Amino acid sequence: MFNNLSEKLDKALHVLKGHGSITEVNVAETLKEVRRALLDADVNFKIAKEFTNRVKEKALGQNVLTTLQPGQLMVKIVKDELTELMGGDVEGINMSGTPTIILMSGLQGSGKTTFSGKLANFLKTKKTKKPLLVACDVYRPAAVDQLHVVGDQIKVDVYSDKGNTDPVAIAQAGIAHAKQNGHNVVIIDTAGRLAVDEAMMKEISNIHKAIQPQETLFVVDSMTGQDAVNTAKAFNDVLNFDGVILTKLDGDTRGGAAISIKSVVNKPIKFIGTGEKMEAIDVFYPSRMADRILG
Ligand code: GDP
Repeated sequence: MFNNLSEKLDKALHVLKGHGSITEVNVAETLKEVRRALLDADVNFKIAKEFTNRVKEKALGQNVLTTLQPGQLMVKIVKDELTELMGGDVEGINMSGTPTIILMSGLQGSGKTTFSGKLANFLKTKKTKKPLLVACDVYRPAAVDQLHVVGDQIKVDVYSDKGNTDPVAIAQAGIAHAKQNGHNVVIIDTAGRLAVDEAMMKEISNIHKAIQPQETLFVVDSMTGQDAVNTAKAFNDVLNFDGVILTKLDGDTRGGAAISIKSVVNKPIKFIGTGEKMEAIDVFYPSRMADRILG
């Protein structure tokens, strides 16, 4: 994960090793490399610039107050700032509501259906909940079948209504079904399209208004870099979602989405997907991710 970024940051922070103190000159030299590493990882230019400015201020400000070597001090500051940039504290899912309603949103192929299954499995095993999965993709019968396959695999019930072309009605019927059958969590998987379009936004917005979920999650493929951030912005403008799910972090992703998304939409990344299997789900810990990036 993020091997390239880790390597480049490590190299950048090496500049200070061997220096007796932090100076304007060696900080500038280091941060030029840090900024380059971030840009190469597909972090947005403005975010990278603000990031290095904050690090610079802290480095020059804390230099006189610390007994740390310049190299160690810089690693610590960069780690703290990366953690802050990715969200600071860990944020869980709002489990209020009887049942708790969780709405999944995102583009087609982002990993919504897979993640719906992973989340249901996670809640079932870790939090002893009784989830119901609801299939609201009225355009792709294969997507409904896929959710049933996932449900069978993790032994979680799936509600679908293949002939019905109204996703709002299916979502509402799914919630009613959950209430009747003692499910305390309803995870609603919705249709996505290949790119942001008005019809999709209207549809997900209608579902959102009708069912008023406790938690609306936006699922995004981390491999799509800055596009992931733009898509997040478009969905957040319409849904004001509660959290981000970053998928496919097991792939050869450069890291830009993980680093940038929080500061663009001001919503936390809550979980990450790290594989196709149902167990490949992790709570997102910003500080652990920063540790991982800095090796
Ligand atoms: P949806 O269209 O948003 O519902 O996306 P899917 O759940 O169908 O996922 C699209 C593809 O991405 C499938 O082949 C999944 O197996 C794969 N996928 C989903 N999440 C992950 C992940 O975290 N890592 C990897 N490597 N593949 C994933």
